[in-house]
Amino acid sequence: MNIKGKTWPQLFWVGLLSASVIACSDSSTAPAGDTELEEIVLPLRVHLLRSSQIESLNAPLTMEQAQTLVRDVNEVWAQGNIRWIVEGLVEVDAVVTPNVLSAFNGETAVDFPVLLEAIGGDREATGWDAYLVRDFANAGFAGVYFTGAGMLFAKLADENGVIDLASFGTRVLAHELGHSLSLPHVACPPEGNLMAPGCPGEVRTRLNSAQVSAARAQALRGQPF
Ligand SMILES: [Zn+2]
Repeated sequence: MNIKGKTWPQLFWVGLLSASVIACSDSSTAPAGDTELEEIVLPLRVHLLRSSQIESLNAPLTMEQAQTLVRDVNEVWAQGNIRWIVEGLVEVDAVVTPNVLSAFNGETAVDFPVLLEAIGGDREATGWDAYLVRDFANAGFAGVYFTGAGMLFAKLADENGVIDLASFGTRVLAHELGHSLSLPHVACPPEGNLMAPGCPGEVRTRLNSAQVSAARAQALRGQPF
C-alpha cells in the first residue's frame, strides 16, 4: 500500500483470524534467563493512547502500570538476557479523524493508515516505539509490528474485553517486540512459544534457543528489525 508517496512496510498481524484463541488469558511463566549470556539492554519508548471520544483507543492503564507491564515483558525476555528500559513513557492524545472514528467504532477496518492517523501521522524517530491501546475494535488482531520502522501497536483487552496486563498484555507486547528483534511466527509447538500466536501451549511466552540467538543478533545491532 502506498500513501503520500511512501511505501508502507510489511506488517506482522498478530492473531489474525484467530484472535479468539490468542486472546486466552492464561498465565504463564518464562523460564529463567541464561546467565551465561551477556545482558543486552535496549531502549523502549512507550506511548499510552488516550481518548475521551473513543473508548477502544483509550489505553486503560496508569503510568505506573505501564512500567509494571514493561517489567513483566522483561521477565519474558530474560530468556535471552535482553532487557528493555523505558526510555520514555508518555500519554498521547489520539487524533480522532473520521477514518479513526469509524474504524475504532467497528464500522470500517482498523488498518495501518488508520493507526498512523490516530497517532498524528508518520513518525520520524528511530529506535523502538510501542503504542498501547485498549482494543482494535473488530480488527481481529492483538498487535501489529511495522517492520523496519521499530513501531508497534499492542492492545490490552482480551477477546472478552478484560484487561489482563500480567498475562495477555504482557504476551502481546513481548510478542511484538519479538518481531522487532527479527523473529517471525512459528507453528504451534506443544510446549508453547511466544511467537506462535493463537496457539495453545504449556508456556506461551517461551523462546527456543534459535529464537534467542536470532533476537540477540538483532539486538546487538542496536536497532529494530
Ligand atoms: Zn506476530
